[in-house]
Amino acid sequence: MATMPAVFFGHGSPMNALETNRYTQSWAAFGASVPRPRALLVISAHWFINATAVTAMQRPRTIHDFYGFPAELFAVEYPAPGLPGLVQEISDAASPTWVGADADSWGIDHGTWSVLVHAFPDASIPVVQLSINAEKPLDYHLELGAKLAALRDSGVLVIGSGNVVHNLRGVDPSQPDGGFDWAQRFDEAARALMTSDPSGVGRLDSHRDYRLAVPTTDHFLPLLYVAGATGGAPAEVLVDGYAYGSLSMTAYTVGMAPPPVTGTGAAAALETSAPAESSNT
Ligand code: ZN
Repeated sequence: MATMPAVFFGHGSPMNALETNRYTQSWAAFGASVPRPRALLVISAHWFINATAVTAMQRPRTIHDFYGFPAELFAVEYPAPGLPGLVQEISDAASPTWVGADADSWGIDHGTWSVLVHAFPDASIPVVQLSINAEKPLDYHLELGAKLAALRDSGVLVIGSGNVVHNLRGVDPSQPDGGFDWAQRFDEAARALMTSDPSGVGRLDSHRDYRLAVPTTDHFLPLLYVAGATGGAPAEVLVDGYAYGSLSMTAYTVGMAPPPVTGTGAAAALETSAPAESSNT
């Protein structure tokens, strides 16, 4: 079995699930060109807890973990099966790091399904999520990602879903495809490392713009798993761009030449009827 690629998606607003734009079209093009995986192992910004755990249910539920969005978004279902047998393989790969098995608390959150509805629309490939342990330092996530690289050799597609730059308080609705200077500087620094020496992203916490670009680590840490899973090989940019000043939508592939970017259109809006900082996007 050939080694699977790995991929990081900048997911942005959950409304990207329902829209078509240059990002969603790149996600779809990626899914259409990747060899069919045995399973998708997704590290989503939105399962950010005080432990490292994996979903272990046969039928993970679709979680609508946001509010203030239209009913149409709450109606989205991503009925992919789980793969309980993968828990032991992940546990073995991560050893001696302890990985819990979650039988019933989580499922498939919007960081995962808002991308997968485009990348793998038929929802037939089993999906397993790995939580992000909020209490651990950057190196922990990078090292765990490096251990998960072994799963790429057995048909598992490792997917990180977050945003390299994600500052909801800084969102500027007037610039749907713009990025503030600090957002661009940080995203470019991350890109320079991802495309040369991916493990270097673990040092980005010393970047001058880190506090603005990464006010909380939830959306940034999925990148560290993918950087770790590269095995040191340079990543390539799948699609890049900014959204509403304070988000970067940059996505990376590892171990696979990215398909050309052919889509157009800005990322979906973050504006909701709830304040941005409480809409959990
Ligand atoms: Zn998000």
